[in-house]
Amino acid sequence: MKIKSTLLFLIVAFAANAFSQTKTKNIIVVTLDGLRWQEIFRGADSTIINSEFTPNKKEVNQLFWNDQTEKRRALLMPFLWSTVMQKGQLYGNRDLGNKEEVSNPYYFSYPGYNEIMTGFPDKRVNSNDKIYNPNINVLEFINQQKGYEGKVAAFSSWDVFPYILNDKRSGVLVNSGINDLKLENPQINMLNEMQHEMLSPVGDDVRPDVLTYQFAKQFMLDKHPKALYIAFDETDDYAHGGYYQFYLKQAHNEDKMLQDLWNTIQSDPFYKDQTTLLITCDHGRGDDSPKSWRSHGTEIPNSKQTWFAIMGPDTPARGIMPASSTIIYHNQFAQTIAKLLGLDFKSNTNHEVGDAINSVFSK
Ligand SMILES: [Zn+2]
Repeated sequence: MKIKSTLLFLIVAFAANAFSQTKTKNIIVVTLDGLRWQEIFRGADSTIINSEFTPNKKEVNQLFWNDQTEKRRALLMPFLWSTVMQKGQLYGNRDLGNKEEVSNPYYFSYPGYNEIMTGFPDKRVNSNDKIYNPNINVLEFINQQKGYEGKVAAFSSWDVFPYILNDKRSGVLVNSGINDLKLENPQINMLNEMQHEMLSPVGDDVRPDVLTYQFAKQFMLDKHPKALYIAFDETDDYAHGGYYQFYLKQAHNEDKMLQDLWNTIQSDPFYKDQTTLLITCDHGRGDDSPKSWRSHGTEIPNSKQTWFAIMGPDTPARGIMPASSTIIYHNQFAQTIAKLLGLDFKSNTNHEVGDAINSVFSK
């Protein structure tokens, strides 16, 4: 009798352990700054194309317009609406009643990225100033886990990320803005040179997204990080500038880079079929277009509304997520990222972090 119950215990323990294990061995997060859910799910917005913010209406219509919503959004983000649609999940389509948003009360970048990475909105984190973040982030947490030490990196176009991710304390490699990456690698050396010789179209504090992507990609191929974060920026800059054609074209380019990133993942045995890709943004820009589209923040209604997409070996393919009475918040990403790697994320301030998003793991 005693032997039997021990055996039973072992079987139950083994089953529970097997159940809690995930197939995800690597996590890659990509953020597209200030790209609205409206463009993701509806494609190009005719009210902005027909406004002063689109001087070359003919070209933009040729590139991105179709009367059918499904075709229109696929013209803008073909990778999202083919591969991710077939193999992953897309959240935040408010036209269907699926809601995703930030829980911080500010609706701009640093508070948004803080919420994504630390798992809670912090009232102290209320500006875009270069202040080192007091909160530990999930990348830092992952970097402290056995087997992940020195295997975590972030690449960003905007030069505030060393502060958001507190690279001084966190030990996470953060290559950000126009700064060289020290690595003996001919591709990286070329990128280091290029970024100093290239005019950034959106200002000195932002590296062109294509360079940020190439830095991340070459680093990935060389060093095989197990947790990688890529933060693009240009969509937000073009929106603030009032250039809708560039906002659309850059969204399209970022989709191309995501396609290339996924191809890179799936053609490298280190990443293939054991890597989850999470794609999101830091805030919305409201729905009173064309008037309010350029900006975001508390004065722009509904600029807290966001979206995300996820694809990987633990996530059932469901495409567009249906109507739900539950709103999902950006503060749930940190724990979702940890759980995908089989980890349980805790904040340093004993602050509650948002729960992992259940539907990412099960039907
Ligand atoms: Zn902005």
